[in-house]
Amino acid sequence: MKRLLKNGTLVSGKDYTKADLLIEDGRIAAVGTGLSCEGALCTDVEGKLVFPGFIDAHTHFDLEVSDTVTADDFTSGTEAAIAGGTTAVIDFATQNRGESLHQALENWHRKADGKASCDYGFHMAISDWNERTAKEMEELFQTGVTSFKLYMTYDNMAVNDGELYEVLKEAGRLGALVGVHCENGLLIKELVKEQKAAGRLGPMAHPLSRPASVEEEAIQRLAVTAGLAGAPVMVVHLSTKSGYEQIAAARKRGQTVYVETCPQYLLMDDSLYSQQGFEGAKYVISPPLRKREDQECLWKALQNNEIQTVCTDHCSFTLAQKAAGRADFTRIPNGMPGVEDRAALLYTYGVMKKRISLPQMCRLLSENQARLYGMYPRKGCIQPGSDADLVVWDPEYRGTISVKQQHYRTDYAPFEGTEVAGRPFQVYLRGELAAQNGQVLRKLLGEYVKRGPGRL
Ligand SMILES: [Zn+2]
Repeated sequence: MKRLLKNGTLVSGKDYTKADLLIEDGRIAAVGTGLSCEGALCTDVEGKLVFPGFIDAHTHFDLEVSDTVTADDFTSGTEAAIAGGTTAVIDFATQNRGESLHQALENWHRKADGKASCDYGFHMAISDWNERTAKEMEELFQTGVTSFKLYMTYDNMAVNDGELYEVLKEAGRLGALVGVHCENGLLIKELVKEQKAAGRLGPMAHPLSRPASVEEEAIQRLAVTAGLAGAPVMVVHLSTKSGYEQIAAARKRGQTVYVETCPQYLLMDDSLYSQQGFEGAKYVISPPLRKREDQECLWKALQNNEIQTVCTDHCSFTLAQKAAGRADFTRIPNGMPGVEDRAALLYTYGVMKKRISLPQMCRLLSENQARLYGMYPRKGCIQPGSDADLVVWDPEYRGTISVKQQHYRTDYAPFEGTEVAGRPFQVYLRGELAAQNGQVLRKLLGEYVKRGPGRL
């Protein structure tokens, strides 16, 4: 089927221009002015912005963690994604200790295949490094899993410094990118003990047990290790100014360090933990919410193109699941939803507030993610031959985020009551109109994306 989108303002990573767009067989067929096409379904999108489909390279759907499983699986998670303009996610396939990477990958295909309403790929989270794992990394890389994830905290997943070095070295050799969760797990354990000994057992103790310095130290250690291994590295969900300063120092030494942050670290602060009763549990995420000055640093880094991607770390739990930690904050499952709200938040509080430009929004949400994770130019741009993954953005929309409208399976919205300007009018997935005005029109169109080597 052919479609023609007339008179839209097409946004790229460089600029924006008014043009028409012809879609044929799921791909972009032509971009230009005054396009006409016999037999094409024509939509006038005058006054709307047209972005390449947004990509969220940090989601956890259907993840078993903290003796429970995330509220959103691939069914609900990808419906929320597409409703909010995200046409592809890269989820973390996660190796349990004792499993091979191949088994972990099979597990994630079983969770996702046939259930997704947006396209999806997988990073591989390595938690069991042994003599077979390097070979497996290479095999996975050949089959389209070209990025890996390591944790410097969480007992069941953390790698030690030697393992960190070995994985980075192997990834560097392959041309794979490693994303790292940077928090010093051993220090956190000690600080948790101190909070408990002081009788602090509520959500407020969560940020106290994971201060900025445990992120800063882990980033510094990662940067030194990546420097020794001669490999580029990605710091995921950066939350602190002091951590950012370590990244800036490593870059000054000539290292390639990429950075991802998330809307919650840009827009929420740690005062949310000191609310009445158990309210703060909604925001128990790791790393925790920080201070105003951290937010300012992150916005400035976005503005100066020093942060490459904005993802969500969508990892959702219901209030009943969060209640497992009523008497002990360490038992509150860490994480919250976000995959549906990201673009509206970045547009409202980034573009509308003149902190970032439209091309920057395009790079942060789409182009840089496609490039870094090996999907460009199939995704991440509007060019002849690219997948027709498109977000037709309505800049006139005004609304409020509410649990009542969201597609998540959670019974709360972290950004409840937050005003947003703009939202997707239409979302196309490989040429099919998949969502409109926040409603999912066509489900289960998602396909697995094999990725190549990434570079920016
Ligand atoms: Zn995560």
